[in-house]
Amino acid sequence: MQRFVLIIFVVILLFSCKSVKKQVFSSEEIETPHTWDRYDLIETIHQPIRTIRLSIHVFQDSLGAGNFNPFNPNGEKSEDWYWLNGLIDDASQKMGQLERMNMESSSTHIKDSRLRYQVVGLYTWKNQELYELNRVAYGVGNKMFDFVLQQPEVNFKDNSLHLFLAGNVNRDNSKIASRGIASGLADKRWTVLYNYYHQYLNNKNFWPAGLVSHEIGHNLGLRHTWNQDDGCSDTPQNAYHLEGNPKNFQCWNDNEPRGFRCDETFECSNNLMDYNAHQNALTQCQLQKIYANINRNKGGLNDILSIKESRLDSMYISGPPTCKETGIYRLENCPLGYRIEWYVSPRKAVQQPTGIGNRVTIKVADNYRGKVILSFRIYQDEEVVDFDRTIKLKPLYPGT
Ligand SMILES: [Zn+2]
Repeated sequence: MQRFVLIIFVVILLFSCKSVKKQVFSSEEIETPHTWDRYDLIETIHQPIRTIRLSIHVFQDSLGAGNFNPFNPNGEKSEDWYWLNGLIDDASQKMGQLERMNMESSSTHIKDSRLRYQVVGLYTWKNQELYELNRVAYGVGNKMFDFVLQQPEVNFKDNSLHLFLAGNVNRDNSKIASRGIASGLADKRWTVLYNYYHQYLNNKNFWPAGLVSHEIGHNLGLRHTWNQDDGCSDTPQNAYHLEGNPKNFQCWNDNEPRGFRCDETFECSNNLMDYNAHQNALTQCQLQKIYANINRNKGGLNDILSIKESRLDSMYISGPPTCKETGIYRLENCPLGYRIEWYVSPRKAVQQPTGIGNRVTIKVADNYRGKVILSFRIYQDEEVVDFDRTIKLKPLYPGT
């Protein structure tokens, strides 16, 4: 019953928001697909944490060789199993610890993308025909995808992103490099990763957490930033325009490659969607673009995402950072049906505060200047969770 009431409430809220928006935009604007691209309006940091379900598929040759072998002959997890799962866990964690952009950008530093990964299946396939496929091409990914859809033991066929670890080495441009191709911009289906096993055998420092997230970035709808217009003004073009560097050039790392303008940190991108040694930053616009795609379910993205039942991750205290005489503060995204307490510290900073449910009204005490901490405590089943926020206070009539 409670759930029913909540749904009604949310629906009314959505409709009321919509009718307010209609006063701002003309109805024509609302109908065009372009309006969906208004990702600049999305507040990334208040998104609930979403987990992307991943199924990993290793294509071995007909003898079970030539690629990772996650399971020993007796079925036990092997070293490769731990390496692959550790890689995804690390890539997932890094999505919550994004770095500041090295290159000059108008974007604020958003540390947590609010996106994570979870491996829901790890499969090996002894199949010579699929093992041979080593071209970086959509046809290859589609073939692998058609194959796994037909295998009865594969779970989450439509509800996970399938990562294909290609077997046979790709030698495009006579160079063996880690490569990838995603099924589309935004598309939930698959990503093929090439040469990972070769790199893993030949380079003990090979740890492509950024590369995996780069490909998933394509699945979520992101384009490269350095050689095309990616639709974001806060992703700088890479350093090709600097004197002495060729067009579409990008630095790999500090002083790499040598003989080019890559000697300053700000000349070397660390953006996830560039090719570089770091791949650990996303701009505000890139994240907003991802969430715009998720919100409109572009490419069926919602099929592969799970949101934690707990809404704690998306809760925060809203209200002005500076309270001038009086201010209203609310604990947002608070689930119904739980007991909430709140308190203000130091108590003398405010006049008798009043509140109901998740809403508190603060009045600044006469002559008080300084800060106050507003705390909400919610009792959720066995859990007690505190939310704090520091608020600056300004009295209307400051004393002398
Ligand atoms: Zn790419």
